Order: sequence, then C-alpha cells, then structure tokens
Amino acid sequence: MIRTTSILEKKRWGFHHSEEEVRALIEGMQSGFIPDYQISAWLMAACIQGLNLDETVWLTQALVASGSILDLSGIGGTFVDKHSTGGVGDKATLILVPLLASCGLKIAKLSGRALGFTGGTIDKLESIPGINVALTQEAMFSQLKNIGCAISGQTRTIAPADGRLYALRDVTATVESIPLIAASVMSKKIASGAPVIVLDIKVGRGAFMKSLESARDLAAVCRNIGERMNRVVATVISDMNQPLGLAVGNSVELAEAIEILQGEGPADVRALCLALGSITLVESGQFATLHEAEEALTVSLDSGKALQKFEAMVAAQGGDVEIFNDFSLLPQPHRISMIPAPQTGYIHDIDPQKVAEAVNLLGASRLTKESPIDLGVGVVLRYKVGDAVEAGDALLELYGSDDFDKNTEAKAILLSAFAIQPEPPTYRAPLILESVTSRGCVLSELQCLKASA
Ligand code: URA
Repeated sequence: MIRTTSILEKKRWGFHHSEEEVRALIEGMQSGFIPDYQISAWLMAACIQGLNLDETVWLTQALVASGSILDLSGIGGTFVDKHSTGGVGDKATLILVPLLASCGLKIAKLSGRALGFTGGTIDKLESIPGINVALTQEAMFSQLKNIGCAISGQTRTIAPADGRLYALRDVTATVESIPLIAASVMSKKIASGAPVIVLDIKVGRGAFMKSLESARDLAAVCRNIGERMNRVVATVISDMNQPLGLAVGNSVELAEAIEILQGEGPADVRALCLALGSITLVESGQFATLHEAEEALTVSLDSGKALQKFEAMVAAQGGDVEIFNDFSLLPQPHRISMIPAPQTGYIHDIDPQKVAEAVNLLGASRLTKESPIDLGVGVVLRYKVGDAVEAGDALLELYGSDDFDKNTEAKAILLSAFAIQPEPPTYRAPLILESVTSRGCVLSELQCLKASA
C-alpha cells in the first residue's frame, strides 16, 4: 500500500506521480481513508508544483471512475456537449442547447449553480416557475428521445469526487491551477457521455483565466485530455473583458436568452452562440463547413424553430410556458431604477468583475452552497464598449433588492465599472480570440463574427 505522506512529499518536491499514486489519492479521499487535511496539502503542492499531462489525465480518469459514465447509446442520434469556463452575463447554454437540438443534434447538458463571481445556468433556468432542474436519468433519457435536449443539475453519479475536490479547492485557494481546472472540467464532460465536446474558455477580468497565454494553456490541456480519452474536443477562447450581452442576473439573463431565441437580443450573444453552434455542428459531422452550419442556425433562430425547441424542453421539465408570452411571470426585483450617465462621451470600459460584484451584492449569487439567492435582482446595461452616450441618459437599469443600502452601494460599484472618455476607443477586443478544432474550422468564414467585429 502507498503511504499518503510519501505521495504528498513527492509532489512537495515537484516530482511526478505514478498512475497508481493518483488513483490511490482519489480513491482514498472517496472512501474516507485519506482525510481532507491531507488532500488539501496535496492540492496546495499540486497547485504550486503543477501536474504534467500524464498526471492530469490520470487525475481526470480517477475523477470519472468515482462515478458512472452516462450511457447514451440506447437513445440514438448524435450527441454533443458544451462547456463554458464561466463569465459575467454568459447565458449561452440556455440558447445553444435548444438551438443545437433544433438543428438535429442531441444534447444532455448537466450544468452548475452560481458560486463565486459568475452565475450558474441552473439558477438562471430556475427563474422559470415550476421547472424541474433535478431530472432523474429516466426522465432525462425520455426527454432526449422525444425532444433531443435537456438541461439538468449535476447528478451525484457524475464524477462525484470532483465535487468533493472542488469544495476543498474552494476553501484552500487552489482553484486557479490549470491542470486542476482541466481535470475538473473534463472529468464531468467525459462522464456525461457525449463524444464531441466544445469548450468556451473565457479570458479577461470577468473570467478565471486572466491572460490569453493561460487560456491557451488550459485549452491545450483540455484538448490533450480529450485526445487521450477518445473524445473530440474543440476549444474556443472568447473575450470576457466586458459582460456578455446586456443582462446580468438570473431572470434578466433568462429573458435575454429568450429574446435571442426569438431572433432578437444583443448582437454579441447571438454572434457567440452562432459561432459556438457552427463549430459544434461541424465537429459532430452534421455539416461540412462553418458557413453551411451558420446558415442552418440562423434560420432556426429567425424562424422560431429554436424557440419552439426551448418551449418544448421547458414544458417537458414542468416549467410554466406562459413566461414566453409574459416576462412579468418571471421573478421580479423589488424596485427598478435608472442610473444616468455621469458624462457625455464614448464607453471605453465596462469592468465585468465590478458588474458581477454589484449584482452579487444585490443577492444574485450565493456566499455558500446553501445560501438562498434572489432570482429577480440584476442589471440591464443600455450600452456596450465603443458606444456613444450623452450625460444624463440612462446608462443602465438596476433591478434592485429590498435593501436600500445595498442598492445604493451597488449603484456606486456599477458607476465605477464604466470608463467614459471624450474620444471613441481605438481598439475593441474581438469576441472570439481564437479556436482550435479537429476539422480545422476557419473562423473567418463566419458572418456573425464579421458583424460583431
Ligand atoms: N469549473 C469547473 O467545473 N471546475 C473548475 O475547476 C473550474 C471551473
């Protein structure tokens, strides 16, 4: 038997583990044989010394083996999966899942809740009264057969050891490690069973990855894990230096996602979904070129086909479909107030981290896993970076809480998120910085990225 302290010592000195050692660590954690303080010590050593690709793959395999792999083979159809590393205002999953299903793919999306500064798809979806976000495997499979898509919370059978490891990372300042993030993300994707996985890796102030270099590293490690574990993994690196779209919060983001599915809504959200969707359709072999894929997705969005798919999914999961006709049925804020622009000029910056801070202060995300959240609070921006604004015009709408002091503090944080200058900005970051796909997709083929550039 391997002594736990010798595993810890090895990583402390920066040596490489064997497969057996990595497996022993995760199995020991799961059985209770290795206590949390030893796992925490290993996490800190791994975070500082790093893990090479072999160790990262073995860690991913051990996390997958701690639960079961969804067997989608009996359902039929072409399964795909997508994952975003998380950003401010990122509601792409709510759009992409029905959109891809409306173009013939199958997608069983297991999503998380908000924790930390970014929101969670499950909380946003839960803005729909009555919706069930804890589907049984039976209910999910029947929905996949009939409708082609489902969004549900992570189940206990999917990489349970990752949940345990993540909780320890969260409280030991060891979240920000590329191999640990890659193993965590990829273990859940692999256990979710789809052969094709598209990862949206966010880079910028509103993301885990603050530099393009670190985003590239994470993308490469995830692709390498995919290759070693027989999955097609495409990676996209997208900008997170301003919020995605205009809405940040739970019910406001859900409403914005529906607007996109109605063929309307902010151009950047639509462009990102068309780009990620096109890559997914080509990677899965459904279309030969990005151009053809984008055309099919555009027709689906503009004809209402994708919206119908979302409505069918919501209905199957018990949600109130009346919300599609009446957004006032979604959780509402205690009060809505306009925040005027303090000066005339051009918007140079909207700091996503500050926007998230304000929205979270209002109660949109939780401090601990158990704490309640307010689904009605949030902000709706009226402008994006590069836009011209007049002093006194509404800069944004604040969907406030019942706490006057918190609303006042959130307003001050939001105003500090904006940089307004007399001259227009000379540089605007592209929405998608780069991508690597197995079929060598050329992003310049995409009309949506030209429109958003
Ligand atoms: N998301 C995950 O699922 N895991 C991480 O480690 C970081 C982001």
